[in-house]
Amino acid sequence: MNNPQYQAALDAVKTAQKIVIVTHVKPDGDAIGSALGLAWALQEMGKQVTVANDDIVPDYLQFLPGTHLFQRTLANAEWDVMISTDASDEPRTGQVGAYARAHSQTVINLDHHITNTLFGDIHLVVPAAVSATEIVFEWWQFAGHPLSKNTAMALLTGLVTDTIGFRVNSVTANTLRIAQVLMQAGASLTEITARTLDTRPYRVVDLWKHALPSVMLEDGVIQGTVQLTDVSQAGLDDVTDGGLVSFLNQVNEAMVAVVFKEQPEQKVEISLRSKPGFNVSDVAFALGGGGHKQAAGATVNGTLDEVKAKVLPLLKDAVAAGKLDIV
Ligand code: AMP
Ligand code: MN
Ligand code: MN
Repeated sequence: MNNPQYQAALDAVKTAQKIVIVTHVKPDGDAIGSALGLAWALQEMGKQVTVANDDIVPDYLQFLPGTHLFQRTLANAEWDVMISTDASDEPRTGQVGAYARAHSQTVINLDHHITNTLFGDIHLVVPAAVSATEIVFEWWQFAGHPLSKNTAMALLTGLVTDTIGFRVNSVTANTLRIAQVLMQAGASLTEITARTLDTRPYRVVDLWKHALPSVMLEDGVIQGTVQLTDVSQAGLDDVTDGGLVSFLNQVNEAMVAVVFKEQPEQKVEISLRSKPGFNVSDVAFALGGGGHKQAAGATVNGTLDEVKAKVLPLLKDAVAAGKLDIV
């Protein structure tokens, strides 16, 4: 990232009084972490900050200071600056994103997805960053802003969750250096790892009991299916795979893992993961979604059978095009 973009973004927030922060729907650790890391630091700069998401903050992220700041709706307000974080395109920011864009003077697009569509006025888009929180960190370092414990906890959470505990191959020595600085600022790696990665309600295991019989391995692609009935029988109210796709990606013989999640109204949400050396982001982007080489997703119109018939050949091509890259 070149300094002029950081400087332009800094100038925009310095002259602003009111700032709204949005991130992607169904927020994960990096979405919540980057939004809260921005919110705390901007509040410490004396700004009036609004944070919003269409969806609730998941239970496993409620330990982060400031989750109460999130609003589910926006109305009757204007802002000087909107910051969108960890969202590769405008629809990903949901209804609050659309409202914030229409009522803000300047839009800063802060993201690390290789599939970012470069919407907005100022682009802090760094595909090499392991998480959006890494970009927030670099921006605050550039600004010379001190790191409070609250900001550090939020930023380390994005780093830990998007790298699955520093395990994806985009992690570098610099990633660990950033983690070290965040720990020195008071963030606990043990607490964040325990609360975000090593935790799962029994309902999710119950969902897996229903979903695991659907698992199949063919031509290096491992697939699983979560039907709407699986979700309701497990007592869950939101369509999720509860991390099943990451579990399937651990299978030695699989280079690509996919979970098909049935949605109401003939739609299917797909979650994709791959081993190092295999790229699933191009497939996700071609399907109208986005993501990273090793973790991507999309929502596709059609029944489960129709979507599988469309997606599985693309994933088999992705297996054929890659080569396992574990050194
Ligand atoms: P998930 O499988 O939901 O954990 O998503 C994995 C990655 O894919 C994350 O980096 C998401 O931001 C990205 N992703 C998932 N669904 C979509 C979508 N519909 N559009 C753009 N990116 C997506
Ligand atoms: Mn995310
Ligand atoms: Mn992210």
